[in-house]
Amino acid sequence: MSGRGGDVGNGQSDDDHELRVTKIRNGTVIDHVSGGLALTVLGVLGIDGSAGEVVSVGMNVPSDRLGRKDVLKIEKRELTQNEVDVLSLIAPEATINIVREYEVAGKHRVDRPEEVSGVLSCPNPDCITAGNEPVASTFDVLDEGVRCVYCETILGTDQADLIDHVDIG
Ligand SMILES: [Zn+2]
Repeated sequence: MSGRGGDVGNGQSDDDHELRVTKIRNGTVIDHVSGGLALTVLGVLGIDGSAGEVVSVGMNVPSDRLGRKDVLKIEKRELTQNEVDVLSLIAPEATINIVREYEVAGKHRVDRPEEVSGVLSCPNPDCITAGNEPVASTFDVLDEGVRCVYCETILGTDQADLIDHVDIG
């Protein structure tokens, strides 16, 4: 884990698996990410630390539900709906907690939507969404992967392939 200095000391114990990383005041906690996927999630969200974001990451934390999980705490940042949609595709088990003044203000599982729009680029160079037309990419979400509604190209049966095509404006 990479906690920051100045733990706020809000009574969390070392055996608290849910919150073993420093609590945050305002921001987003993404919990129940499959073990080892935390850096991928950060990459998808465009968080690399260069903007001075304060981020704590717990990797391979024991989890009753997943065996092991990653936990990300991103300060002063709430996710957009597009970002939540992308997370629903690459980390379907995740839970997202919005934290305000140290309290969880909202907690929800990411719902796998029926379609996603404007968050993935179509791999087909001849697709109408790949040109200069002002057409937002839209994909139907299948049980496995997603399908472009314009050219029916299937994407994401391989998760790495999906991640390569994430394109959050
Ligand atoms: Zn397409």
